[in-house]
This record gives sequence, structure tokens and C-alpha cells, in this order.
Amino acid sequence: MTHLVVPIFGDSIVSIREDMASAIETGADMIELRLDMIHDVSDDELRTLTDAAAGRVPMILTCRSPEEGGETHAPDGERLDRLDRLGPLADYIDIELTTLERGDAARAAVRSALCRADVITQSGGREVIERGESRSLIVSRHDHRGRPASLQSDLLRMTGVERCSVVKLAWRARTVRDNFEAFELIRISPVPCVAICMGEEGLLSRVLAPKFGAFATFASLRRGDETAPGQIPASELTERFRWKFVDSTTRVFGVIGDPVAHSLGPDVHNAAFEKHGINAVYVPLRVIAGYEPFKAFMVEALARPWLDFSGFSVTSPHKENAVRFLTEQGGEIDPVAARIGAVNTILFHKGGRMVGANTDASAIVDALSDALGGPKRAAGRSVLILGAGGAARAAAFGLVAAGCNVTIANRTDERAVALSADLGCRACKWEDRSTFPVDCIVNCTTVGMSPNDGESPMPPDALRSDQLILESVYNPRKTRLLADAHQSGCQTIDGLTLFARQAAAQFRLWTGRDSTAADFGRLVDAAVHRREAAPMACQPGGEAGRGD
Ligand code: NAP
Repeated sequence: MTHLVVPIFGDSIVSIREDMASAIETGADMIELRLDMIHDVSDDELRTLTDAAAGRVPMILTCRSPEEGGETHAPDGERLDRLDRLGPLADYIDIELTTLERGDAARAAVRSALCRADVITQSGGREVIERGESRSLIVSRHDHRGRPASLQSDLLRMTGVERCSVVKLAWRARTVRDNFEAFELIRISPVPCVAICMGEEGLLSRVLAPKFGAFATFASLRRGDETAPGQIPASELTERFRWKFVDSTTRVFGVIGDPVAHSLGPDVHNAAFEKHGINAVYVPLRVIAGYEPFKAFMVEALARPWLDFSGFSVTSPHKENAVRFLTEQGGEIDPVAARIGAVNTILFHKGGRMVGANTDASAIVDALSDALGGPKRAAGRSVLILGAGGAARAAAFGLVAAGCNVTIANRTDERAVALSADLGCRACKWEDRSTFPVDCIVNCTTVGMSPNDGESPMPPDALRSDQLILESVYNPRKTRLLADAHQSGCQTIDGLTLFARQAAAQFRLWTGRDSTAADFGRLVDAAVHRREAAPMACQPGGEAGRGD
């Protein structure tokens, strides 16, 4: 069993007690009391915590050293004395390998803390002797700069420490690939192991900890209370990532892109897996721009079949990189994706066959056809596409194939001319876009996207009540363009509706399950409502906190 550990700290015994209770309510099955982050609370007060939570879930006692992210400047002796005095509170005592290796005094103090029986005063004044000999030792190592060069040998040194029951390695992930090494360490460790990658790129190590049998993962009680970069709230781990259901047979899906922290993909696909009773989890995989980082991620992921990667969404800036990678590796690219030159979905078939597909084009065509009353009604309609990037290319390809008369306008005129020539449609100058009499307008620019949500790619007086307006931008949901379109009496389709359609198509490709655009529309609505109720920070855990 992998424990969900929530670190607790605070400036009063009352808030510490309340936070312990909230953590357990949120799903924590272990508490870490961070002594180095507890100020203005006496040890005597802390010793009364046995009746708050320590009796209900196991407790780790930590007084982290400053060089490994602790918030105390107390010398080793003082930190160790505290652990010794408060030892009876704990089920586990966490000590850094570096502290233990500083000398015999440190090792003796830890031995004493592990064995000490003590008189505990419970609320009501009753005194009992408790917890002698019952504690276990966690030997830990944290590196906030990156992967320690000595990772493997550190593991060996840690497991060799007298009475070591659990090893804990945490380091700052340089790329998402560092997580794979964390899982390898868990798999080879001769004792129960925690291996965590800190920072946004390390989220995978937290979410998949149960898949590889880690001893524990760490999550914050609430956003803003992170004790390490990349920590996410326990509620997000259990609800957004269905952490309690992840086990050794869980298949793994994810969205590759940059940025991806804000993606709705995990909310929507994980909810769909739950609804269909599928043992799978979907995670954000931040891979920085460029073909080499994309290729390195894919090669290392494919070299480890035990990771159980079963499918990827691919988003900006990697859709073209996915085409190149699949071509180089002898994968298949379906004809639509090949013609568009962009893959937004990768499937892995049994036997390792890789297939790239594009569900963006069908999402736009199907949304437009449904709004107009069926595919036959779409044929012959005049459509103005704004933009000439990836989304515009998918839209133009799909709409030309559906028999629409497509015209493309783009801020950089040459791109509109090149795209229209490639797909056999027309181009018009960006300055002339308002004078074009069309049935439908599809915004495939980034104009209107947060934080520039006051902007629209069309002047409001250019919109006519008999037009259908499709918006690709989905952050915010109601863009300036859509607001102007409503004002003018136009029919509209928002970006989240398109998102739901392309996600539903991906889900069908990956699972073979019948899931409709309407089903996914409801999942998207629910995810958006949850986000509105509890907004996410820019990055998981931001840069707050110093070390797990
Ligand atoms: P992209 O490849 O980067 O293309 C961006 C386009 O926006 C380019 O044509 C660019 O014109 C234009 N543009 C940027 N700033 C502009 C400005 N100030 N004025 C006029 N035009 C401007 O991006 P993409 O992948 O196509 O994505 C476009 C939008 O679609 C994004 O908001 C994305 O989130 C959204 N999208 C939504 C879905 C969905 O499921 N709803 C799916 C895919 C994409 P230049 O060529 O002149 O730079």
C-alpha cells in the first residue's frame, strides 16, 4: 500500500490540530509533522497531539536540515534533540543521510529517538507511557538543484544505515524523463522506497507512486501550503487524478505539450475513465518545445513498456513533431493527420504498433454540421477561417473535405496564401476579412485568449445575425468574439465544445468505448465548474515550498 502523506506545520497548536483533522478527512493516511516549519509552539504543546491524529493515522516526525530545504537554522544537535524529545509522537522519524553521516553523535541521537518511551499527557490530564521501541527510521536525501550524480550509490548507502526501514529520495526533475528513474529506484530498492521528482515536471512521480509500489507520496493540505515545489493538494491528487484507484495494472495516458499544467485533459479523461470503469489515469506531461526533447521523451517512454503508456494527446508545440517521430520510427499516421501534417493523438496497439491521428479536424466539421442540421447542409457553405496555424490547418482540411467553400485570412498574409494553396481553397487579406460575406466564421487565431480576453479577431459590426461563429479559443469560455456574436444574434459554438468533441474522439480511439460528444461536453462542464470553485495555480505547487 502506498501512503498519502500530508505535511503539517503552523504557528499554533490549534491550527495544527485542525489541519491534521482536515488532512485525514481529505484522504491522508499518514501525517508528516514538519518541526522545522512549526514556530511559536512548544514541545509540550506538540506532545499533546497524540489524541488529535497521531492515534488515528501514523505520523512522520521531520526536522529538515536547512541544506535539504528545512526552514530552521538550528544546528544538528538541536534538531536531533527535538526529534529525541518528541520521538514518542512518531511512528516514523525522518533523518537526512547527510546528517547521519556527520558523526556518531547524530546516529546515537537517532537511535535514542527511535527507542525512547515517554510519558504522554492526553487531553483530560491522563498520563500514559507509550510508544517505546515502536518507531521506524526513514533515511532521506533531497536535492533542489537537480538530479544528484550519486543517486544509485546514495540508495545503497541509505539502505545500509542501521535500522533504516524506508528510504526517501527527492530531487528536482530536469525533465519529465527523470520520473522514469524515480520509478526504477522504487522497483530496485531492497527496502520500501519513496522517490519523488520535485517541480512541475515531477508530477508523474507523485501520481504514479502506487503503480510502482512506492512507500508513500506527499501532497499538500491545500494550495499555498506546499512544502516542496510541484506538490499538489491531496484533494487534487485523489479527485483529479483518482489516486486511490491507481495500482500496478493501471494504464497510463497523458497530454504532451508545453504549457500543460492548465490542461483540462486530465479532468475530463480521468472522469471518463471513472465513468466507464476503466483502470487508467491521464496525466500532464510537460515536454519543452523542439523536436529533440519530444523525441527523447518518446524514446525513453517506449523503452520502458512497464510504464504502461497506452496513448497520448499531443498539443502545442508538438503536433508536427509527432508526425516526424512516427514517420522516423516506422509508425502509422492516419491519412487525415498525414494530410494536415499534425498529430494530436497517439495510440499504442498491442505488439507495440504506434498510430498517429488527428481529432481536431473532425471536431470542427462535426460541430459545424450538427449546428447546420447535418453534413449535407454543411456542403456548399462559405466559411472564413481566421488564422493559419495548426488549428486553422486542421479546420481548413476538414471543411474543404466536407465540401465547404473555405477562405483563409491570417495576420501574416503569406501563411494564409501558402495554406490555401496547399489545401485548394482561397485566401483573403487580413484587412479585408470584415468585408467578406460568409455563412460561417471559424476563429483559429489565439486572439481573445486569456490574458488578452478583451480582444476579438473580428470587429463587432462585421458580424451578421444569420452567421454561425465557431470559436477555438476556450480560455476564457465566453470570449469577446462570442459575446459580440451573441449581441449580433449569431448562432455560436464555443471552444470548449470543440475541445469536448476532439477529446471524445480520442477516448473512442484509445478505449473503443462509445462515448459521445455530449457525454464529454458534460464532463467538460463539470470540470470547468470545479475549476471555478477551486482555481488552480499556474503550476502544480508553484515554486512554493522547499523540499518534500
Ligand atoms: P498557432 O499554430 O500558434 O497559430 C496561432 C495563429 O494565431 C496564427 O495564425 C497567428 O497569426 C494568429 N495570431 C496570433 N496572434 C495574433 C494577433 N494578435 N492578431 C491576429 N492573429 C494572431 O496556434 P494553434 O495551435 O493553431 O491554436 C490557435 C487557437 O486554437 C489557440 O487558442 C488554441 O488554444 C485553440 N485550439 C483549440 C482547440 C480546441 O479543441 N478548442 C484545439 C486546437 C487549438 P500569425 O501567423 O500572423 O502569427
